Amino acid sequence: MKILVINCGSSSLKYQLLDMEGEKLLAKGLCERIGIDGHLTHKPQNGKPVFNEDVAMPTHTEAIAAVLDKLTSEEYGVVKSMREIGAVGHRVVHGGEKFANSVLINDEVMAAIAECIPLAPLHNPANITGINACKAVMGDVPQVAVFDTAFHQTMPGKAFMYPIPYSYYTDLKVRRYGFHGTSHRYVSKRAAEMMGKPIEELKLISCHMGNGSSICAIDHGKSVDTSMGFTPIAGLPMGTRCGDIDVSILEYLSANTGKDIKELTNILNKMSGVLGVSGVSSDFRDLDTAAAQGNERAKLALDMFHYAVAKTVGSYVAAMNGVDGIIFTAGIGENSADTRAEICKYLTYLGIEICPECNKKRGEDTFISTENSRVKVMVIPTNEELVIARDTRDIVEG
Ligand code: AMP
Repeated sequence: MKILVINCGSSSLKYQLLDMEGEKLLAKGLCERIGIDGHLTHKPQNGKPVFNEDVAMPTHTEAIAAVLDKLTSEEYGVVKSMREIGAVGHRVVHGGEKFANSVLINDEVMAAIAECIPLAPLHNPANITGINACKAVMGDVPQVAVFDTAFHQTMPGKAFMYPIPYSYYTDLKVRRYGFHGTSHRYVSKRAAEMMGKPIEELKLISCHMGNGSSICAIDHGKSVDTSMGFTPIAGLPMGTRCGDIDVSILEYLSANTGKDIKELTNILNKMSGVLGVSGVSSDFRDLDTAAAQGNERAKLALDMFHYAVAKTVGSYVAAMNGVDGIIFTAGIGENSADTRAEICKYLTYLGIEICPECNKKRGEDTFISTENSRVKVMVIPTNEELVIARDTRDIVEG
């Protein structure tokens, strides 16, 4: 079965077409500036040329139509006709408490995704738009929703509740949801395979460190805690997001800057994190360069990030009363040997020993701990699209 995986943002749409026989990537691409003018980058994986041009995309429907046009075209295509695509899998950011697993999309599911809009006002409307656009262009092809939050629905109350009046949970659904679930699920499963043990016998900690970062404690295959919270601003300091801070800072800043909560929240989301501290960049590569040139604030921002990751990992070791394996993934986790080494310096108390040579490898599943290391440390490139495609196939094939 060939499956189209869609990750829809408010003005963008990322896609991959996979052939599930051999789990082979056939093509991938990105629509940008949807609703503004429109640009399509389409990369067939069969040797045909890359298409990289402006295409009018007043709405997501035209974007999907343009993607399908390229996927089936003589010059850039990888399939003969749209009918070869057996199903579409969508990344949906928020499934609230309703979805602990991926589901086949029907009217009831669409209504439930819409109900979660207040919990993810930027993301869920875009996901709904993407699903509707596929329906408009592809008709009755089965569509599946794979939720970022679903993997974390196994967290116990002691981990997902906030210590605030209980009615805010019952009436307004305020609780920790956690995100990056698809990534944490993928890498933890892969880690168990690499360790040669059933995931049901392992205590794992997954560190997804990219533009957004979150850590997840996975006990016997189930998420039992994670660092993002009610929204993806929580937990670690990130590229531009502040992570955990004292909530009173908001009122204090409002009183002293005249900015309202909305403006300040925007600053905490978009101008904080390592960008806010360093004043240099949200990109860790730029911070590495600046720190190497002696920029003290860039160095401080990096130190804060390493320290926060190490503290969170430590707290999850306590939460699970042990750990067998630690995983690094996503842009920083997969590529930055220095970041991994700096974080692991805090973790020698766990009996962790890093092999500096292994830590240099890139782009492949690998152990970076030594044979003697009491806890295994792995780098596993994440593959959320593959998880979405697998779930979609499993659901559609029943
Ligand atoms: P992601 O959100 O997973 O795509 O990760 C994107 C982030 O990964 C970028 O913003 C960079 O900060 C980071 N990144 C990518 N490559 C490197 C690298 N070689 N060293 C440090 N950070 C990197």
